[in-house]
Amino acid sequence: MKLPVYERFYTWQGEGVHLGRAAYFVRLYGCPQACPWCDSAGTWHKDYRPQGVVLMAPREIAGCVEQDSPPGAVVVVTGGEPILFDLTELVRELHALGRRVHLETSGIAELRGDLDWVTLSPKPFGQLPVRSVVARADEVKIIVHDVSDIKAGLDTLEGLRDDAVIWLHPEWSKARERDAAVLNAITEAVKANPRLRAGYQMHKLYRADDLDAHSDKRLIPLGGNVELGY
Ligand code: SF4
Repeated sequence: MKLPVYERFYTWQGEGVHLGRAAYFVRLYGCPQACPWCDSAGTWHKDYRPQGVVLMAPREIAGCVEQDSPPGAVVVVTGGEPILFDLTELVRELHALGRRVHLETSGIAELRGDLDWVTLSPKPFGQLPVRSVVARADEVKIIVHDVSDIKAGLDTLEGLRDDAVIWLHPEWSKARERDAAVLNAITEAVKANPRLRAGYQMHKLYRADDLDAHSDKRLIPLGGNVELGY
């Protein structure tokens, strides 16, 4: 089975428990969630047909990972919505190289593949995560665009393991504007419930997106606010 690869690049993980780790990103094409603030809208936007999507066999992807990143770099499979695809063979090929394989997903379908780490980012306004993925998640990332997103996100997590980490991330436009309502809501939520952690997209501060020659900057405004550049 070949996978539609929208882009792939070697950088570092900018958020979550594995923040700062060298990471090779494989971004797959397609997502039905259509989040209005999506920063990867080129993977799904109805008004955009990207030229560069390539169907690649798992072994071919693994070969690129081996060639373009050193041993020890983790592989992050993201999207789009990568859980729509059977990742079993890709994970097997990457494990054969000795790589850890992490997944970033909104959890809307059964997970296929022996992932080493699963980051679940539920989208309460769209399709909800299935129970098996909630139960499998190692960490959860709730994107907070509006204060109400905190409760809405937490309400999707029935069955989450006790040791799974729950991050509250200000949506990037809110973080960049230093939106007091959103930032304070996250602060108060964490103070009220120590299970929660306040998060941030550190790669944005490093400009790892826009300084990376492999990052397709044309796509950034599609899901968000052109004036604000996200
Ligand atoms: S943020 Fe994630 S889930 Fe939402 S549209 Fe973008 S790729 Fe899909």
